[in-house]
Amino acid sequence: MDGTGPARRITERTAAAAAALRERTGVAPCLATVLVGEDPASVTYVRMKRARCAKAGIEPRHLALPAGVSTAELVDRVGELSADPAVHGILLQHPVGPHIDERAAFEAIAPAKDVDGVTMHSFAAMGFGLPGFASCTPGGILRLLDEYQVDLRGKHAVVVGRSAILGKPAGMLLLGRDATVTYCHSRTRDLRAIVREADVLVAAVGRARFLTGEDIKPGAVVIDAGYNEGNVGDVDFESARTRASLITPVPGGVGPMTIAVLLAQTVEAATRQLATA
Ligand code: NAP
Repeated sequence: MDGTGPARRITERTAAAAAALRERTGVAPCLATVLVGEDPASVTYVRMKRARCAKAGIEPRHLALPAGVSTAELVDRVGELSADPAVHGILLQHPVGPHIDERAAFEAIAPAKDVDGVTMHSFAAMGFGLPGFASCTPGGILRLLDEYQVDLRGKHAVVVGRSAILGKPAGMLLLGRDATVTYCHSRTRDLRAIVREADVLVAAVGRARFLTGEDIKPGAVVIDAGYNEGNVGDVDFESARTRASLITPVPGGVGPMTIAVLLAQTVEAATRQLATA
């Protein structure tokens, strides 16, 4: 399952919507990225997201804060962006550092600007099936499954991982599509036996090649959301592809879809905010 083609098509539509919005209102959609410290992976992610923004006609704004910034200061700065009418979307790159109350920092993002889908408001809206911004990676996974016309109804979906930004919301979105969902995590007993039952498998563990072909039910659809050192996923692609009917590569699968969803949600946020301005 190639993510680059669908991501490119979504981004083309996003760029057209951004251009139309700018033409109509004289205002370009603006995404503010917030980076705490200089973790090399985070610096790269933020740089990549800003570059994609610029290409799609979204104005990238950037706030770099020192690694030692306090929770109070971070909350204040994110709050300023939330109150700034020229900013339509906010992305706080995480991890933000162990001394910071990450939840407090995320909650300083106004729900209308939560284009990365990290606030409790967005999470609850997703849980209730109400309009709101999905967490970008799970949102990208669902769009990719739709792109490949994977019928989820009644299927057994197994999600390995339960983080608030990835595993948990991915399972909730699959449940919203009538899949029967099982979560696995570090305390799950007999994890591999459960994984072998999956019609649809989402790997969101953060461990290189954690799952292999032997763990895959023949014909399963495999989504590898992992992105580990050396550009490798959570699934051993070569052995898993011999059993799966569809499988995402790493890189080039879920990653590009994540950014495409972020850009699409930013333009959507700007459109809504400018309509009510
Ligand atoms: P995370 O917060 O570290 O969560 C990892 C999850 O995997 C946890 O729920 C953990 O269980 C579970 N886990 C860890 N070791 C396990 C084991 N041995 N057996 C079973 N379960 C285990 O990571 P994350 O932020 O969700 O990210 C997961 C992966 O996705 C990473 O590789 C990350 O780089 C990648 N990612 C990719 C994108 C993208 O755009 N492509 C975006 C976000 C993340 P417990 O809850 O029990 O600890």
